[in-house]
Parts: sequence; C-alpha cells; structure tokens
Amino acid sequence: PTSGLLGPAEIRDLAELLGVQPTKKLGQNFVIDPNTVRRIVRIAGVQAREQVVEIGPGLGSLTLGLLEVGADVIAVEIDDRLAAQLPRTVESIAGDRVGGLTVMQADALEVRELPGVPVRLVANLPYNVSVPVLLHFLEHFPTIRSGVVMVQAEVGQRIAAGPGSKIYGSPSIKAAWYGAFRIAGTVSRQVFWPVPNVDSVLVGFELADRQPGDEALRRETFGLIDAAFQQRRKMLRGALGQALGGSDRAIAALTRAGVAETRRGEELTLDEFVAIARAVRDLPA
Ligand code: SAM
Repeated sequence: PTSGLLGPAEIRDLAELLGVQPTKKLGQNFVIDPNTVRRIVRIAGVQAREQVVEIGPGLGSLTLGLLEVGADVIAVEIDDRLAAQLPRTVESIAGDRVGGLTVMQADALEVRELPGVPVRLVANLPYNVSVPVLLHFLEHFPTIRSGVVMVQAEVGQRIAAGPGSKIYGSPSIKAAWYGAFRIAGTVSRQVFWPVPNVDSVLVGFELADRQPGDEALRRETFGLIDAAFQQRRKMLRGALGQALGGSDRAIAALTRAGVAETRRGEELTLDEFVAIARAVRDLPA
C-alpha cells in the first residue's frame, strides 16, 4: 500500500493469509482506517525515538502508525499467530522501521517485565479487559508518563468521570490515583473490521509523579475503594466494616479522616479515600 498503513484491503488479505477469524473473546476488532491511526498517534503526541508500549497490536494497524513517526514500539499480543506475523507485516510494509519493533507474545494482564523502558502507552485495547489491563500497566510500569487508549465509550466515560457523576465509580477513582484522564475524541464503529456493536472513545492521560512509599498507600487506598464499591449502596460505616475488622474501626477511621460515616463510596473523591487509608494506619491495633 502506498500509504504505509493498513486499509480494508490489506486487513482482509492479512486475515485471509493467517486464516484469522477474529474472536469476540479476545476483543479482536481491527482498525482498517489509516486516518484513525494517524489521529491516535497525533493525539498521543508520539515523538521520534521514544519507546512506546502497545497492548494488543493485532494485525499491526496502530503499530505501523507508531513506527511511521519514528517511535520504537514494544508490542504485547496474546494471540500467537498475530504476534508471529507482526514483524513480517512490518518488514514488508515499512522494512526500514522493523528494527524499531519488539514483539512479546503474552497475556498483557500477566506481564511484569518489558523488553525496554516505555514512556508512553498507546493502544486500541481489547474491550473485555480494558480497565484491568490499563490499571495493570499503570501499576507495573511507572516509566510510562502519558498515553492514549481506545476503549468502549461507556468505559472511557467512567474512567474520565469525576465525583457526583452518575457513572463515577472505582475505575474513575483508581485512574485518578495515577493521573489526569480525559476523553480525547470519539471513534466511529465503521473504522473497524469486524464492526463492533459498541461505540468507542479515545482516552488521553498524563500521569502524576509518585513518591517512594506511595505503592503501599496505593494498595491500602485501592482496598478501601474495592470495599466501598462492592457494596455501593451501603453507607461507608457498613461498607468498610468488613475490610477494617468491624464497623467500630470503620467509624473510628472515618472520624479521623473527617469523612461522615453516613456517606457512600460513590460520593467520595480520591483524596478522601486516601485520607481514610492514612487514618487506618493511625488506628490502634
Ligand atoms: N491494535 C489493533 C488494531 O488497532 O487494529 C488490534 C486491536 S483489537 C481491539 C485488540 C487486540 O488485543 C487483539 O489483537 C487481541 O488479540 C489482543 N488481546 C486480547 N486480549 C489480550 C491480552 N489479554 N493481552 C494481550 N493482547 C490481547
């Protein structure tokens, strides 16, 4: 192809060559529109010579767009046929950039080490696991400073939501721990093959600097968030009771944190959850 990116004909030919029947289970909807790829790369602000990690490269639509602007790409793909084909596709379409590609065949949820030091995450995420995969990478790869991910529209809105919004929930608060997330655009379902039955959005993010020791506080805070949202309709004194060893301890921690015990998790900001986590540390054993 003259554009150097994959269009509908190239995607169809590649899928046929590999005998790939895209599976719903792996969220395999491939982008067939070079304009969408270039838009994602532009919004992500990808620079030449920087390392970018891509989760779920599939047939290589976005990978080629990242390589095109001169980034080096670490691509993590679970499907062994797709992982094996990717370097060949890049070789045949952008042979001079193939040295910038490292493919890892793995389940993104289980990756603990990467062959490189990525500063950006850019991905068209597999929709059924988009939030856990995103949170996993933010947790384990702190060299990532920013990125753009394409996700199902409802999921993107939840990630970017603030307190008080109806869709505010645990993904919103956990994402806020890591940094600032925003909806950076919408994407038509027509740019995919096969056409999915959901709409998509681009979520952009800039991550905050973290201090040493923050990891323990993060785990404690996320534990409280999980407890509060497992019993979303309950007041905090009840919802946190089990996690904290009794409602007396929950009430003591909430009082120390200055958070009314009758409130619900869905009303709290990240800072309030962090304040409760700190207060729990100060409770007598
Ligand atoms: N990036 C490609 C594109 O834009 O055309 C494909 C995106 S497709 C929505 C999601 C991709 O993620 C598929 O290639 C799928 O095989 C892969 N995938 C699904 N679950 C995965 C997992 N747990 N770890 C890594 N890759 C996964």
